[in-house]
Amino acid sequence: MSETKNIIIIGASAAGHTLANSLLPHLPTTHRILVIDASDYAYWAPAGIRAAVKPGWEKRVTVPVSTETFFPAGSAHQVIAPNKVVELKKNSIVLEKPFEGSKEVQFAKCVLATGALQPAPMRAELGSSMADMQTVLRKMQTEIAQAKKVVVIGGGPVGVEFAGEVRELLPSTSITIVHNQSRILNPSSNPNPAQKAEAWSAPSSYPKLSTALEAELKALNIDVILNDRVDIPSGEASEGAWNGTSGSLGGVKTLKLQSGKTVEADYVFVSVGNKSGAGLVEQADKGAIDGSMVKVDEFLRVTSSSPDSILSADYYAIGDVCNTPGWKTSQTAVADAQYAATSILAEVKGTKPKKYARSPMHALLVPLGTSRGAGSITVPYLGTFMAPKMVVGFKAKDLFIGQAFVGIFKGAEKVSVPDVAAA
Ligand SMILES: Cc1cc2nc3c(=O)[nH]c(=O)nc-3n(C[C@H](O)[C@H](O)[C@H](O)COP(=O)(O)OP(=O)(O)OC[C@H]3O[C@@H](n4cnc5c(N)ncnc54)[C@H](O)[C@@H]3O)c2cc1C
Repeated sequence: MSETKNIIIIGASAAGHTLANSLLPHLPTTHRILVIDASDYAYWAPAGIRAAVKPGWEKRVTVPVSTETFFPAGSAHQVIAPNKVVELKKNSIVLEKPFEGSKEVQFAKCVLATGALQPAPMRAELGSSMADMQTVLRKMQTEIAQAKKVVVIGGGPVGVEFAGEVRELLPSTSITIVHNQSRILNPSSNPNPAQKAEAWSAPSSYPKLSTALEAELKALNIDVILNDRVDIPSGEASEGAWNGTSGSLGGVKTLKLQSGKTVEADYVFVSVGNKSGAGLVEQADKGAIDGSMVKVDEFLRVTSSSPDSILSADYYAIGDVCNTPGWKTSQTAVADAQYAATSILAEVKGTKPKKYARSPMHALLVPLGTSRGAGSITVPYLGTFMAPKMVVGFKAKDLFIGQAFVGIFKGAEKVSVPDVAAA
């Protein structure tokens, strides 16, 4: 084994898992894949909102991550999980717990697929166990089922989707979305899903999508307050006032808005605050950070403004953590991973990799429960169009769990989740 060179992938979610699958059939036996994840499971964030609302869905969004669920029997490749990478070095990484007798593991290539950090239910807590995450989701389901007045802070796709899920479950609960812009989402007369990502703000969206969603929300009796912000206090609050906590408030509290208006809630959902998972890179070399993301070149290799960066040459970054242009979605994480496989294989085989050009084709589909919603699609050269049938016909029922989540597990041990009816 000492002769074998390691290709390390940090992060076993959409980006990291797709990369492992794409390398697997083509990698020479001189190399083995080591996929490392802090958790013992993968979490399907695109259905996380529903899993926080609908009982049974906690088992549909969590699947065990192991060598057996990833790789064929007898393969040299391995999954190291749960285990956290705590430091990046020039040609090695440092783990929290030993692997093959050492915390330090050497590599030929190392790919960062560490995604983003957000509180549950948007993402799994870093290093949590599958059992812990299912418990967190069940607690949210119980609390939401009892809510009479729900306030959603943030009218982006996640906040809007949450409001739709709650409405489908609770027809008579009052639901209010407070959004700091003049329209739902982030509309622009010139939507550009291919714009450069430097921070965690979503690229602009199609104005007709905002119009369609606003009409859907009205039909669902969901109130929307625009051009206003909730004052988020920290710490103590007077009797009856909201103290800034999210989730169940244990009774009705009053939230103050910057306009001077107030709104009442016994459940608050905060859908703002996505953060890049670039902490390891920041710690190793701040010159490799662009905004809050990892800077990559046209081969998805980490690049840095420091000439002697330890990350240059053999580190790559893909998916939500890197600054490839456009929306940060599973769809684009998969595209990064598939390209990175060709780039790494070319280097391993001593040939010249082609440059990466991510397709500007992208769909933004926002379901409101299982049978409503609105979506748009951007097609190269043609522009952006509404795609109403894609949301209900293609996404709303299963949220891509069968195909895009469970479908990528190719290991000897088959994985499955309960079907929608049984959930
Ligand atoms: C509510 C919500 C809805 C969404 N809906 C959609 C949708 O409909 N369609 C779509 O395409 N996309 C959607 N997305 C976006 C999509 O979920 C992300 O783009 C995708 O998960 C990115 O994948 P990733 O592999 O880059 O990162 P992540 O999924 O964030 O995974 C990162 C992995 O790295 C691991 N990790 C991090 N740090 C370390 C470390 N130091 N050591 C070891 N392991 C580590 C984590 O445990 C995690 O498993 C949605 C996201 C959210 C939050």
